[in-house]
Amino acid sequence: MSVTISESVYQAILSQALADAPLESCGYLLGPDGETVTEHFPMTNIDHSAEHFSFDPKEQFAAIKYARRNGLTVVGNWHSHPASPSRPSEEDKRLALDPNILYFILSLADEKPVLNAFRVKDGEVTEKIPLR
Ligand SMILES: [Zn+2]
Repeated sequence: MSVTISESVYQAILSQALADAPLESCGYLLGPDGETVTEHFPMTNIDHSAEHFSFDPKEQFAAIKYARRNGLTVVGNWHSHPASPSRPSEEDKRLALDPNILYFILSLADEKPVLNAFRVKDGEVTEKIPLR
């Protein structure tokens, strides 16, 4: 499979990540099916940390409710790595509990931002998903 992410969503998460840096930023990515991202639901990193992130459970609930109400599916969630590469950390893998969604990581470590998507199962990356 591959995932298509709209340019406007990409620009939105990039702006949010840049604004929140050096802290990690995060959000949900929604679309009409599991392979197309057309909407971004920004979330608060309640850890306010440069190396960790946690969602606010209330916002998570709101995101899922919003998706349902608008006939959208949760393609995955994303978070930024302000100073490390675009791949899941050991902690990211441990906390990626849902094998049915994708985990997007936007790295700002290099001059050019890098976005990758992964599927994680039982604490291991099982797939790196090509993005278009
Ligand atoms: Zn991470």
